[in-house]
Amino acid sequence: MADPLRIDAHLHLYPTKAAGLVEKQNYEIWEYGAKHDVAFEPLAGDIEDAQNAMVAAGFSHVVVANLFAIALLDEETRSAGLTAQAEHLKASNQWACDVTAGHEGFSVFVAVDPTVLGGEAGAAHLRDMVEQHGARGVKIHPAVQRFAPDEPQMLPIYQTCVDLGIPVLSHSGLMRDGSPYAEPNAFGNVLRGFPELNLVLAHLGGGAWRQTASFAKAFPQASFDLCEIIAWIGAPGAPSSAELAQLIIDVGPERVMMGTDFPWYGLAETVNQVMKLPLLSHDQKTAILGANASRVLKVPA
Ligand SMILES: [Zn+2]
Repeated sequence: MADPLRIDAHLHLYPTKAAGLVEKQNYEIWEYGAKHDVAFEPLAGDIEDAQNAMVAAGFSHVVVANLFAIALLDEETRSAGLTAQAEHLKASNQWACDVTAGHEGFSVFVAVDPTVLGGEAGAAHLRDMVEQHGARGVKIHPAVQRFAPDEPQMLPIYQTCVDLGIPVLSHSGLMRDGSPYAEPNAFGNVLRGFPELNLVLAHLGGGAWRQTASFAKAFPQASFDLCEIIAWIGAPGAPSSAELAQLIIDVGPERVMMGTDFPWYGLAETVNQVMKLPLLSHDQKTAILGANASRVLKVPA
């Protein structure tokens, strides 16, 4: 029997191991509360680390979610003004396409940030990355980038995604100051305005996971990845393993994709976590590990 298809629908890459380690140290995961036995990935997250993890865990394909946010820039670039930041965003997307171009098994979802490069200019950059540089989707992070998903600067970008037939992968979850920007319900207006948009909410809603089942019912075109939340099972703000499995059933298992958020979490470890979930059938779990992403994201199998 052929090996089952394995696709990681949500992974991050860094230019160097040192850069990946710095990012992992600076990005605090607080929204699930305390859990002392979270299985974090020891690798740092450059392309060599990603390739080694893929081979070790039997993955044929990964989606590189290119994350850009002013809050994550170094002090110099952060204070350099909007034009410099927009150039930084473009260079980061170009880097992600270039670093993966010579290698099998990588689909790049380029960063969009409407606070830096939104509107028609943002849409034009996106179209260039897709048509000239091989990008296959968009990554947004409304919590770290601090914007409401339905803000006007995003509208030409969503329209471009519909026109190009590419998905939008968005972080979802809670914000520390209580702003609802990344909660599932914040995406309702987007999908009412762009019913054909292929929207993927990462982390099944994260700390706002209790909104996810009703959101999924209201918007059957949306899909989800299960990275991070699966590693935090049992934490105060996260579901139990039975609650997570029930949420996947309520959403529809065919709409849920395996992701890792590598280099935060590991590919092999996340496969084990999926296979250990109760309530779901073996076939449903196998589809979550690869076939769903191949179909929903249209990445090469
Ligand atoms: Zn991520």
